[in-house]
Formats: sequence, structure tokens, C-alpha cells
Amino acid sequence: MRTIEPTTNIKKLAIMGGTFDPIHIGHLMTAEEVRNEFGIDQVVFIPTGQPPHKKGKRVTDSEHRYLMSVLATVENPSFHVSRIEIDRPGMTYTVDTIKEIKKLYAPDTKIYFITGADAVHEILTWNRVDELMKICEFVAVTRPGYKRRQLKGKVDELKQSYECRVHYLEVPALAISSSDIRERVRKDKPIKYLVTEAVEKYIQKFELYSDNK
Ligand code: NAP
Repeated sequence: MRTIEPTTNIKKLAIMGGTFDPIHIGHLMTAEEVRNEFGIDQVVFIPTGQPPHKKGKRVTDSEHRYLMSVLATVENPSFHVSRIEIDRPGMTYTVDTIKEIKKLYAPDTKIYFITGADAVHEILTWNRVDELMKICEFVAVTRPGYKRRQLKGKVDELKQSYECRVHYLEVPALAISSSDIRERVRKDKPIKYLVTEAVEKYIQKFELYSDNK
């Protein structure tokens, strides 16, 4: 099922890229905060397919990550989830994703790519970075206590090299992290209120993140 339809009335689109293993309340609050801050019309969550930077690392099956994203976002009319990366064979590169997404919207739709600040530090190593910088703006979201000065240095470097716009936003709810949730499940600790109720039930039903999975 295609979840994004061609649409012409979207002026500002935000793409929320991430592994979402699992998607949590911090991700949802981040997307809502960016939507409000930048006047975004629609946010599309795009769970990663085969991330190039995660070769050899254990990542939960993409179908589970996709379905949890759908369950988590269902109540917000501005939130959508796309299979674009999980259905694409081979490595997942953000530049390809954004180019494909752009075709579904009006040519003047402005695109923001929301991602964790850690990823911004590595952007210069991403595939076809020159092309990527021309087609979207970045919103780097940070957890409280993140070394903002270090990030600012990186952002200034990017601005100088590419004249691109990189914004940053501290989101208190990002104190929640997917790795902490996985660890809590492994240790049999509760994850209530860290993820939506449906995602909590999904994790229990499919015994995700327990030691034997
Ligand atoms: P990651 O390494 O899993 O996450 C890095 C950190 O950022 C984690 O602390 C994570 O927190 C946080 N984070 C990631 N995405 C976030 C989001 N949308 N909102 C808030 N926090 C977020 O990073 P990743 O998820 O794999 O990659 C992020 C995005 O960058 C993906 O869309 C990926 O495809 C893209 N990327 C592209 C390339 C390329 O094109 N070559 C290379 C690297 C990454 P949680 O664990 O709590 O989510």
C-alpha cells in the first residue's frame, strides 16, 4: 500500500528519517515541535531500509519498524509513514529518498529533513552530499545536555561549504531513546509512556527486543 499520494497543496513538508527501532514518544514530540516551529503542513516518517552506516549492526526487521511507526502516528492527521526506503532494495541513501519524494509533491514544496544531531556531524560523509544540500534544509534535533557548541561548529562548516540551511532545535522529550527502550525490554522493565500503548502491545506481541529475539 502506498501511503503518500501525489499532492499539490503542501507548501512545507518535513521528512522524519530514522531507524525507529522502536519509534517512541520523543520522536512524536519532535515531529510535532518541528511542525509547529516551521509551519509544516505534513510530516512523513520514513523508517530506514538498509542503512549504510549500520552494516553488521543488528537492526529489527523493517516490516516491524514500519508497522510500529504506523501505529504510533495514526492519531495525528498531519503525520504519515512511507515505505519508500524499506521497499527499496540495496543501501538506503537519503539523497535518493528525497529525490523520489519530491516527485510526489509540487515543484515549489519546501522540504525539511529532520534527524538526530549525531547524524548532522556525519553529513559530509553521506552519499552525494552536494546534491542533497541543494534539495532540502536540515533540522538537527538534540537531546537536552547535547554539546551545542560542538554542533554549532559543524553547522557553521556546513553553511560555509554548501550555503545550506541547517537549523537546530533542542527537544526535551528526546531524553527518551530507542536504545534505552530496547535495554529496558531486555531487562523486563516497563516501557509504558515511553512509547504509545499500541507500540507497547506490538512489542509484547512479537516479543521484540527480548533476549531470545
Ligand atoms: P541513528 O544512528 O540511529 O541515530 C543517531 C541518533 O539520533 C540516535 O540518538 C537517535 O535516537 C537520534 N535520531 C535519529 N533520527 C532521529 C529523528 N528523526 N528524530 C530524533 N532523533 C533521531 O541514525 P539513523 O536513524 O540511522 O539515521 C538518521 C537518518 O539519517 C536516517 O533517515 C538515515 O537514512 C539518514 N542517514 C543517511 C545516510 C546516507 O544517506 N549516507 C547516512 C547516515 C544516516 P533514537 O535512537 O532514540 O532514534
